Amino acid sequence: MTPVIVRESAYDYNTLKPTIWNIIETLEHNPFKKNSRILIKPNLLLPAKPEKAITTHPLVVRAVAEYALNAGCTVTVADSQATGTFHRLLKEGEYHKTLEDLDVQWVQFNKSVKKNIGEPFGEIDLAKDALEADAVINLAKLKTHSQMILTLGVKNLFGCVVGLRKPEWHMRAGVNRHMFTTLLVQIYRAIDPSLTIIDGILAMEGQGPGKGGSPRRLDVLVASNNAAAADAVVCNILGLNPMRLPTHTVSKELGVVEDDIKVDGVIPKVSEYRLPVLAPLTFGPGFLQGFMRKHLVQRPTVDPDLCKQCGECRQYCPADAISDDGNPLDFDYGKCIRCYCCIEVCPHGALRSQETRTGRLIRSIPGLRI
Ligand code: SF4
Ligand code: SF4
Repeated sequence: MTPVIVRESAYDYNTLKPTIWNIIETLEHNPFKKNSRILIKPNLLLPAKPEKAITTHPLVVRAVAEYALNAGCTVTVADSQATGTFHRLLKEGEYHKTLEDLDVQWVQFNKSVKKNIGEPFGEIDLAKDALEADAVINLAKLKTHSQMILTLGVKNLFGCVVGLRKPEWHMRAGVNRHMFTTLLVQIYRAIDPSLTIIDGILAMEGQGPGKGGSPRRLDVLVASNNAAAADAVVCNILGLNPMRLPTHTVSKELGVVEDDIKVDGVIPKVSEYRLPVLAPLTFGPGFLQGFMRKHLVQRPTVDPDLCKQCGECRQYCPADAISDDGNPLDFDYGKCIRCYCCIEVCPHGALRSQETRTGRLIRSIPGLRI
């Protein structure tokens, strides 16, 4: 299996550029061939400054784009943000400024084509630009995620589902984390990126992946031709058993990753990395799950002091579970499917996922395994 490359790094372009170029040249498969149409897919979740650690750092994007142009490729940088305008995202995230002298095209995914990703989902709509590129370069951010523990290389490709179809998929996969993770891994397999680099120089810990998380310096880049293998190595760096990462267990089930992962480089040991609070999305026996989810499962809550009533969360909520007249916001926890999209898109970091008091109490009963 293709190795995973681990390198210590920083956002100093004089050292970052040679580090990334060296990573590309060390990989088993170098996708940058003359005249290839390269599509770079960073994590462009929402408009945010690089120091917030929400988006892939613009210097990482620059180093890869420069390598591709130098190899005679054409370069498009593309994603489909969850909130805000694409223009604002490029400005606030300092992408335009950082890459202004490079001949790259910036594209917000907006056209989809059908692609069969396999059972049970069959044909789904994925970004045309990503499917038609000669090679997709997946530039993920190392972040925590309230629903999936971490968002790394495999999950980054969910951005190839265009715009509001993302929450639609959350709704269809519902509260079944395994089902939603299967969708993520199958999308990864369908997009089939040639190279994944995970930007963990300034990572995020706590209640990510949006403004509720906290930046944390880890000074590391992890890269591979196989994103699922790179994700597993990130887990090792953070002291997390990869089998706890839903995308890893499903990647193993689907044969996307093997146990025997070769690593080129030294695996740094990170201590006390704060993972998000993550309780099960379901609770109790099947016939009681609706009731139990409503009252016992962790749920999104708002900090009224931070909420600016901008309405982004309401607009994005796939379950129509946030009412538009409450101040503070009013959630219908019976309808809420615990996808945590609202937390992800809130531009003011006003939402958190919180266990209910009763749920915490019940889970603390020794011997009760719910
Ligand atoms: S919680 Fe966040 S996204 Fe929702 S209305 Fe308040 S500020 Fe806007
Ligand atoms: S309220 Fe938040 S967590 Fe619940 S369904 Fe809506 S977006 Fe998802």
